[in-house]
Amino acid sequence: MEGRLLADGRSLKDRKGRVAKKLRISVTDRCNFACLFCMPEKDKISWIPQREILDFDEIERIARILASLGVEKVRITGGEPLLRRDLDHLVGALSSIEGIRSIDMTTNGWHLEGKARALKEAGLRGVTVSLHSLRNDRFAKISGLDALPRVLRGIDRALDVGLRPVKINSVAIRGYNDDEIVELVEYARERRISIRFIEFMPLDGLGIWSSGSVVSGKEIVEKVSGRYPLVPHGRGTGETSSLWRFADGRGDLGLITPMSDPFCDDCDRIRLTADGKLLSCLFDTEFHDIRRLVRNGASDDQIAEAVLGAVWKKPDGVGYMPWIREGWEKPRNMNAIGG
Ligand code: SAM
Repeated sequence: MEGRLLADGRSLKDRKGRVAKKLRISVTDRCNFACLFCMPEKDKISWIPQREILDFDEIERIARILASLGVEKVRITGGEPLLRRDLDHLVGALSSIEGIRSIDMTTNGWHLEGKARALKEAGLRGVTVSLHSLRNDRFAKISGLDALPRVLRGIDRALDVGLRPVKINSVAIRGYNDDEIVELVEYARERRISIRFIEFMPLDGLGIWSSGSVVSGKEIVEKVSGRYPLVPHGRGTGETSSLWRFADGRGDLGLITPMSDPFCDDCDRIRLTADGKLLSCLFDTEFHDIRRLVRNGASDDQIAEAVLGAVWKKPDGVGYMPWIREGWEKPRNMNAIGG
């Protein structure tokens, strides 16, 4: 795996030789939805205080340093990223950073209809919209808000303004929406957009995760191929999803299988949380405090040193931590990590 080399011959490499090239930036831990596989109960939520959240200049500076170390792709996420005011300004600033080749976003879609055009004009490439059901009542139960029609309008607007790729992310949970997999696939096929099913990970705030609630990628392939024949296309190096093409040529299906078939050996992602912690792995328990350095006057070189050290210690990955698949004491819920 190649990464950009620093003048002294180093790159964002970890002990296993994996090189970080993609950065997920969480811009807020807040969300107006309360997806039951992500957020804690509403009355138990304690949001990160505003003063601890990175401002756009701080995010841009850290991203610039990371780009100088070899990061090439950025995905903006949260919490719900579109709750952050003037997010298109951040997109514009990030897209002017040398070395950053693309900026995409993962969103719940609530604000997409109103903001898609400005985001596109600011330089956003594509969006991934989370969609776990196509039934109003079920969508409201899973996502905590009766928002399905508005989210669907957001997806249509993203397509209209030319954001590409537009993708759907779906978390299939046994007993909640696993009977709707084919319908979700049909929705995506009709619009010629990709749909990716993510296996439910034990990063939920309600503690409903159990190994029995995970609908595996294999099970999804079986369900879908019974209706629409699929051709395996494999997983590209560093990609999260294994792709299956529909035999009739109408697009593809992605399966993200951290639980049943982890893909950590070629992981090239790192994460910056909304409060400025660098996470080298979703399941990392060590949070490297970059905000403290930024706010205490550290130089770019000192920040780069800290990042290199944090990435070097990247955990082997969930495939090497079998206890996680039994359920574990996670340090943060998904909304505070940035999915
Ligand atoms: N608010 C945005 C959204 O809804 O897409 C972005 C943040 S959300 C944390 C990012 C992605 O993580 C979503 O597609 C969501 O479905 C997924 N996710 C959240 N909790 C998860 C869990 N416990 N297991 C698997 N995926 C999860």
